[in-house]
Amino acid sequence: MNQESKTPKAIALMSGGLDSTLAAKLIQDQGVEVIGLHLASPFGCLTDVKTNAAAIGVPLIIKEKGEAYLDLVKNPRFGYGRNMNPCIDCRVFMFELAEIVREEEGADFIITGEVLGQRPMSQQRRAMVKIDKEADMRGEILRPLSAKLFEPTVAEEKGWVKREQLLALNGRGRKAQLELAEAYGIQNFEPPGGGCLLTESSFSGRLRDYFDVENVSGEARLVRSSLLRHGRYLRVADKVRLLVGRHEQENNVLNQQWRRAEAVHFKPENFQGPEAIAFGPVPDEMFQMIGGILARYGKPHPVEQNTIEYQSSSSKGTFVLHTVVPEETIKEMIV
Ligand code: SF4
Repeated sequence: MNQESKTPKAIALMSGGLDSTLAAKLIQDQGVEVIGLHLASPFGCLTDVKTNAAAIGVPLIIKEKGEAYLDLVKNPRFGYGRNMNPCIDCRVFMFELAEIVREEEGADFIITGEVLGQRPMSQQRRAMVKIDKEADMRGEILRPLSAKLFEPTVAEEKGWVKREQLLALNGRGRKAQLELAEAYGIQNFEPPGGGCLLTESSFSGRLRDYFDVENVSGEARLVRSSLLRHGRYLRVADKVRLLVGRHEQENNVLNQQWRRAEAVHFKPENFQGPEAIAFGPVPDEMFQMIGGILARYGKPHPVEQNTIEYQSSSSKGTFVLHTVVPEETIKEMIV
């Protein structure tokens, strides 16, 4: 235990889901000082983590998973689940980051909201044992919701938490968690696994395709990854991908982020229509087609009266549009 304080201290990995919130609350109720840790995905997965941490009175640290996580998702050592979710690698990665934060914060142990048998890839007994071993943290991770179904961890052996007050939840049922949520007055939560875009087939299709043409690193790579969930995603040429806004909010995001994404930005100049950004080597000859796609989703004037603005880090201008791309052609481009 940390020497300065007699109160044991734990880092609670919090996804924003109900289970991790309940796990943190259970341990807090045992008199442990709990600090929430949210590891933010570069894909911008949606989460209620701030609301939930505030609801149980837990201070929250948010850290980015960063570019190393993109490498992991691209080439996981232990493979994918049903979609692009490399859950085993992901858990090992998160435990390693949590261990760094545990040391920085002078905390004694780490807890998670995992429930034995709840998720097919990462929450089966063998997988959980393997994850702890790969992260070099055997016996170090306490899973309060299922702790009684595992061997006692260091936190129990050292008396930082009372094993008899931990739970033995097993499987995919949600009844016990929902009853606890009601008892604790926790109202905002995602379904288990909810919020992780990597478990969604439509997002996974985009990501798989994007990884094939990814040609940037550093900030641009992270920004592009965070933009993949916005807009329509079109494969307009072998190495060129286009994101087209579907509404004002997405247009604004694309408008604000194209520079950081090292993309080319397109916007109708004199007619109503969506904004778009293109990744990859975008030759000038492709501008007409991209403009024609914007016109398809917009309200253009008669042909030859429409102009499109474009801008990249190295050039800027407008061009007159000669065509509107047919819907059937666009359908074939959508990923
Ligand atoms: S569901 Fe997503 S966040 Fe959770 S372990 Fe799998 S890849 Fe990681």
